[in-house]
Amino acid sequence: MDMEPFVFRHEGALVASRGRPEAVVDEVNRFALRPLETDEFAVFTLDLCHNRVDRHFSRFPEEELDRINALTPGRPLMERHALRDSLPRGTFFRSRVHRQGDTVTVRPDVYVLRTTANADFIVNIEGGVYRETSIGFSFRLPECSVCGKDLRTCDHVPGRSYGDAVCHYILREVMDVIEGSVVASGSQGTGFVAEERALPLPQALDAARRAYHEPITINPPNVWAAE
Ligand SMILES: [Zn+2]
Repeated sequence: MDMEPFVFRHEGALVASRGRPEAVVDEVNRFALRPLETDEFAVFTLDLCHNRVDRHFSRFPEEELDRINALTPGRPLMERHALRDSLPRGTFFRSRVHRQGDTVTVRPDVYVLRTTANADFIVNIEGGVYRETSIGFSFRLPECSVCGKDLRTCDHVPGRSYGDAVCHYILREVMDVIEGSVVASGSQGTGFVAEERALPLPQALDAARRAYHEPITINPPNVWAAE
């Protein structure tokens, strides 16, 4: 069975601002068309996603974090607003998998050009106003943590308890990383998704279940626009 890949968002956190751009200038310059000087860009470290069940009841297994880690360099960092479109602000130039106790995160570094247009964005990050992140990605298989089936085909509801276990999505078969975003702290990262194809998890599952249970048509409606 060939089903449309899911496009979701997942939240993380901004970790650090890096003080020594000279230490990474060679890695940054792999993505630039002319060699940049160290005073031309700022570098930030983000946690894009992790292996914990998040507040939307989804979880990445570690092998999918490895895949996201490999896909992230070269992808754009976006600035996200509730009321207007997002703008690309930077480029992820390297990424690593970070472990602390049982928590595993994908922790990339991003460079942001110190242009006039990016000045406020950089100040907002350095000043702690923008400190949450989210990742836009696509994947094929939302596995049910209760029964192991594709969640679109079973009746378990993420967030609901079944015996001792709370049902959640296990996000499998990641296909691509679309972008990472920075958002103001306290905002609902999934609440103002700009791409028409990326829905918050509950709506995405509802739409996918509707699509799965519908007969196949030649010109299927765009379920992603059904928010
Ligand atoms: Zn299930």
